[in-house]
Amino acid sequence: MYTDVVRYEGAIFRPPSEAYSLIIQSTIGCSNNTCHFCGAFREKVFRLRPLEEVLEDLFRARAFYTRVERIFFADGDALIRPTEDWIALLDCIREQFPECTRVSTYASPRSLLLKTPEELTQLRQLGLAMVYMGLESGSDTVLEDMCKNATAAQIIEAGHKAKAAGMKLSVTAISGLGGQELWEEHAVETGRAFTAMKPDYIGLLTLIIEPQTPLGARYRRGEFHPLDPTDGVFRETKLMLEHTDCDGCIFRSNHASNYLPLGGTLNRDRAAMIARLDSALAGGQRLRPDWMRGL
Ligand code: SF4
Repeated sequence: MYTDVVRYEGAIFRPPSEAYSLIIQSTIGCSNNTCHFCGAFREKVFRLRPLEEVLEDLFRARAFYTRVERIFFADGDALIRPTEDWIALLDCIREQFPECTRVSTYASPRSLLLKTPEELTQLRQLGLAMVYMGLESGSDTVLEDMCKNATAAQIIEAGHKAKAAGMKLSVTAISGLGGQELWEEHAVETGRAFTAMKPDYIGLLTLIIEPQTPLGARYRRGEFHPLDPTDGVFRETKLMLEHTDCDGCIFRSNHASNYLPLGGTLNRDRAAMIARLDSALAGGQRLRPDWMRGL
């Protein structure tokens, strides 16, 4: 949509809730790029785009679009940019897009941990309202197995830092990431990590094994045994919800990767979502057909 106006390199990923945002590619690729299940940025070598280029894209967008209410910074870990770059970008947005009500970005746990509380608070005050961070799993066994390069405790600490700075925190986890062997640990520990972090939003995806990823290779070698994507995932999600205590948090499991869309506000709607999972386990729910699933 913005290709003629704002320049993009390679495939662009954004959270579903940023569907109507102006997307600005501040970094190319992901500074981590090690996660075995993730094929998003494999073809990209991570680098920061020159600041002048990113600012130029903002000016180009301003010249073209009359109203921009939300701006989202990609790629995988745009928060990793130096704080002084972020200050320049946020200053530009406040001057050029006074109608913009929300600036958000993907943030890895490491990039949140690298910034000081004062830096994060400053960025929040200048307009960075929300960060999207991947927990993937609350189990250290699963995180290590998937080469996430962060422990659950570090991810929880990163989430606390974002919230302490006044930012909204959106966290994703992946159903099925523990495979058949670790599903219970994955479910229980992910619920506990959510409880410890108390994010504002939780997004639950379902694992799709992409052939070009290390996990795809492990699967072909018979080294990873996927959870049954319907009943197995429903049981896992139920167990995870039973261990999640996040009052007021918006829970969404309606990504295109999921067979059974779920959504509600925790803890109020937890029992209803568990009832829907029980109904699906009893065959009483219509599931999303495979051709409609994707990442
Ligand atoms: S899951 Fe996130 S941190 Fe891991 S490689 Fe993909 S974009 Fe990077």
